Amino acid sequence: MAAPGRTAADLAESLLAGDKRALARAISLVENDDPEGWALVREVYPRTGNAAIAGFTGPPGVGKSTLIGALIAHAREADRQVAVLSVDPSSPFTKGALLGDRIRLTEHFLDSGVFIRSMATRGSLGGLSEATLQAVLLMDASGKDDVFLETVGVGQAEVDIIDHADTVVLALMPGSGDSIQALKAGVMEIPDIIVVNKSDHPLTDTMIREVRGVLSLGPQQGWRVPIVKTEASRGEGVEELWDQLKAHRAHIESEGTLVERRRRNLMNEVLALAAGRLRRRLEEQIHEDDEVQALLDEVVARRLDPASAATKLLEREL
Ligand code: GDP
Repeated sequence: MAAPGRTAADLAESLLAGDKRALARAISLVENDDPEGWALVREVYPRTGNAAIAGFTGPPGVGKSTLIGALIAHAREADRQVAVLSVDPSSPFTKGALLGDRIRLTEHFLDSGVFIRSMATRGSLGGLSEATLQAVLLMDASGKDDVFLETVGVGQAEVDIIDHADTVVLALMPGSGDSIQALKAGVMEIPDIIVVNKSDHPLTDTMIREVRGVLSLGPQQGWRVPIVKTEASRGEGVEELWDQLKAHRAHIESEGTLVERRRRNLMNEVLALAAGRLRRRLEEQIHEDDEVQALLDEVVARRLDPASAATKLLEREL
């Protein structure tokens, strides 16, 4: 529901004008699955597509928030408006990390050109990516030039969220062998940029060699995945990372891959939304519809096999 005295149109207008509070409110609406949030996204959608969306993934504690904090400084120097969306897989164990992110980014909280938001997931992955994409669209519509998406990934289903990014940055640190394994095993797609953070660690060069080894097994044409060595807590190497983000952006724009990528990502999003809705509808039917109950009884009585029952269920739906 809109706040009293504020119509949906007012909210859309303030959002498009770049108002920080309107953006915060709009994101809360989509996060709460409020129909007004969906209506708002529908309205502002034609005004999206301008932000450069960079996704940061990597194990917890690798330094993603610190890196993003340091990158914000570079973006602001270039007079760019920035939004950060930090997506926290809703494990009860990561609540501390969420708080930590906020603390590490606090120096930017008072800057009106920077918007920072954390989103916890509600368990279902579908629900999570729905709300995150809507939030990214709202950030984009509000005139942000850069959107930084942060998520814990590597060999986990959560890597999905990164699908919304134009540029994917994988952050690693010396000693994080799991990530290398995930890359090698193809659990994770090869990112566009690899950062080896915590370069103050003695095993940094070994890590870089390992990463190079993995990359040499991948495709050798097109964009060459750079390995950037950083010490985020001191800002070392962050300028190079910023330059590589710009270079990747320029590359995908000039090669036409940005358009292709976005088409693929949006297609996946449409599919995910449709599949989520279909599933919810089917679940409702299973609980509420007598005919479906009867179908299920047949399966339980072993007169109808589950696959045939599924076919019948879908035939009714379509
Ligand atoms: P995230 O969980 O990936 O977002 O990681 P954080 O940004 O929260 O960083 C985790 C911890 O590593 C924090 O205590 C940071 O201060 C620290 N950290 C970040 N970058 C570096 C670095 O380059 N060197 C060292 N030694 N510590 C770092």
